[in-house]
Amino acid sequence: MPNHDNCEFGFGTRAIHAGQRPDPETGAIMTPVYLTSTYVQEEPGKIKGYDYSRTCNPTRTALEGNLAALEGGAHGLCFSSGMAAMNTILNLLKSGDHVISGNDIYGGSYRLCKTLYEKYGLEFDFVDMTNLDLVAQAIRPETRLILMETPSNPLLRVCDLAAIAAMAKEGDILTACDNTFATPYNQTPLAHGIDIVWHSTTKYIGGHSHVVGGAIVTNDDNLRQQLGHFQNTVGGTPSPMDCFLLLRGTKTLHLRMQRHAENAIQIADALRDNPRVTAVHFPGHDSHPQYDLVQRQMRTGGGMISFELDASVEDAMRVASAFRVFALAESLGGVESLVDHPVSMTHGAIPREERIKAGFQDGLIRLSVGVEDIADLLTDVERAIAILA
Ligand SMILES: *Cc1c(COP(=O)(O)O)cnc(C)c1O
Repeated sequence: MPNHDNCEFGFGTRAIHAGQRPDPETGAIMTPVYLTSTYVQEEPGKIKGYDYSRTCNPTRTALEGNLAALEGGAHGLCFSSGMAAMNTILNLLKSGDHVISGNDIYGGSYRLCKTLYEKYGLEFDFVDMTNLDLVAQAIRPETRLILMETPSNPLLRVCDLAAIAAMAKEGDILTACDNTFATPYNQTPLAHGIDIVWHSTTKYIGGHSHVVGGAIVTNDDNLRQQLGHFQNTVGGTPSPMDCFLLLRGTKTLHLRMQRHAENAIQIADALRDNPRVTAVHFPGHDSHPQYDLVQRQMRTGGGMISFELDASVEDAMRVASAFRVFALAESLGGVESLVDHPVSMTHGAIPREERIKAGFQDGLIRLSVGVEDIADLLTDVERAIAILA
């Protein structure tokens, strides 16, 4: 069997094959769902690589190998949710350590920092990561970790992975990037010098709104050891069935991401031309403030768009409720299009003054552009906005 796990193969080939082998006994081409908690030992301590399914499970091993290959990393670790993955990264730190994070990040990531880890003595600064001076100014002797999310959520800002990785290396600071929005199809942070990449596999990786899951990929053996210790000790691991569903998702990741990007460009163009829309945030537009960087760092602009209406919270909620093809729902990255009003939904945990400071307004609407027929999506967007008479 050719080895599909390394970068000798293109992205689509790795998406379909990496980490997986036909079952040696039956030839089954799909990795079986190993619904087993324990494994029979030949003699005490003599195992065939598996002893207990919290520690490892063959379906999970296949998924971990697949995701590692897609990110161009040596080690993959899977979790029962994206937050369980992020929690594992924060557990590398200890009381008194300082963390710099982006200021427009996934609401749940902010909540994990503020409501749990602050209590345990970690200190956080949330800064505009697009401004390298602000990142540099935030660094203190106690800084141990820089957390990035790019493109960010919900403003689709892009931060310079290579520049921040270089800055962190000088100070012996770890870097971690939430790659959920971009996916490895669009961007591979490890290739830019980032130490740890993590995902909510719930989103594009799964791609069918059918699983909640998380993953971490790193090239560093020492980090792999520490993260794996935490994974096994705390046990926030995914079920074999979820791993199987995610493996099925990654087989079409490249196809889906191409269509997400094509549809998103057309919708972003239509929004730009709509007189009721005051701003469009989309990395695929040449008017994006970091378009040069997008071209250096990303393959496409991705499938996420946010836009602003000059509207009150109530009016923005009415528009978000008026879509018929886009479903009003949190989450993103599935084949179906979704619309979100961050202020009243995904980002409700961020206090108003914090979010206004971070630049997102009451009338902001976020779209996860699916892979439906573009004509239907365009009609839906125009009609929903038109209710703002
Ligand atoms: C959804 C999401 C998370 C959290 O992942 P879960 O799988 O819901 O725990 C983290 N980061 C981003 C960017 C997300 O979209």
